[in-house]
Amino acid sequence: MKIFVINAGSSSLKYQLIDMETEKVMAKGLCERIGIEGSKLTHKNPGKGTETEIEKPMKNHTDAIKMVLDALTDSDYGVISSLSEISAVGHRVVHGGETFSKSTLISGEVKKAIEDCSEFAPLHNPANLIGINAIEQAMGKDIPQVAVFDTAFHQTMPKEAFMYGLPYEYYEKDKIRRYGFHGTSHRFVSGEAAKFLGKPIEELNIITVHLGNGSSVAAVKGGKCIDTSMGFTPLAGMLMGTRCGCIDPAIIPVLMNKYNLSADEISDIMNKKSGVAGISGVSSDFRDLDKAAAEGNERARLALDMFMYQTKAYIASYAAALGGVDAIVFTAGVGENSPEVREGAVKGMEFMGIKMDTEKNKIRGTVDISAADSKTKILVIPTNEELMIAKDTAELVK
Ligand code: AMP
Repeated sequence: MKIFVINAGSSSLKYQLIDMETEKVMAKGLCERIGIEGSKLTHKNPGKGTETEIEKPMKNHTDAIKMVLDALTDSDYGVISSLSEISAVGHRVVHGGETFSKSTLISGEVKKAIEDCSEFAPLHNPANLIGINAIEQAMGKDIPQVAVFDTAFHQTMPKEAFMYGLPYEYYEKDKIRRYGFHGTSHRFVSGEAAKFLGKPIEELNIITVHLGNGSSVAAVKGGKCIDTSMGFTPLAGMLMGTRCGCIDPAIIPVLMNKYNLSADEISDIMNKKSGVAGISGVSSDFRDLDKAAAEGNERARLALDMFMYQTKAYIASYAAALGGVDAIVFTAGVGENSPEVREGAVKGMEFMGIKMDTEKNKIRGTVDISAADSKTKILVIPTNEELMIAKDTAELVK
């Protein structure tokens, strides 16, 4: 069975074609600048080791999807001879609100519900819907499509974890609450951790630490999320590449009044100009921060220290929420690649039975980086949201 996975953004579209028998990526790529001058498709064929760039106007997502489908079936750089080889299409959908607690076969009703959740993710859900409609137009209504939600995994959180201390009516009327994001990644790596440990996930307490451009931490008890750091939006939680994470909410009206900022302007500052980029003034990229800090840049050092401290604070708080931790799992761009951040995030937690082998931590590709006498396993597991989406899709269409 071959599953086509799509992650549609407002002006971009990422895709993978996955062979479910081998779980191998047959083709992957990215459409950029959809609807903008200079549109480009970059298509990779890992089997042949080729990368093809096609610069051609893409007016909209339907054009983009048509180009991708042409690339998949191209006699030169394609990987399938006919679109009928694709069994189903899986879509990453950012917000499922309280409606979706698991992945779902897409119908007219489901599309309407995704549209209803757009008020929570105005940049993402409409783009995800456009991707779904573009597939219908290009491949016909009969191709099964599945929506896999970033929020779904976190729907098991108890009310005391997901409610905010605001008047209750805002929850009842407006559904203002913590939703959490990166759910597909947290679910994937917690499942992989259980496999690595050779234990049923139902018997494990796991803290998953997704550190990338966006970062979030989740507490997973017996395979179910009981708390996570992102909130009503992906702005909450720890500080990130350019996002501020949780701050005293009273700072917002103070800055708005003092600098005469609109709601959009303050939101832009908190989403795009803050985080480690805003603190360091150097970059949101952790490789640039590492380099600057090594060269003595104090603000880059501070940004890294804040990032590690806040990660540690979440780990400790979730250890308490879980009543003990069997494994801490680091994943995503920074979690998978930065030994310094991993070490800083668990430093001084030996009193809790969390002890890293700092030498193993430095060896790329090592999964278990905990010390032999650590009560808690510390693991590095690469995330694979596309494979998780493909697995859910295959499961639902079987
Ligand atoms: P993601 O959002 O998961 O794609 O992660 C992107 C982040 O991973 C960027 O901030 C990169 O700087 C970071 N990253 C990638 N490789 C490394 C590395 N070798 N060391 C430190 N950070 C890295």
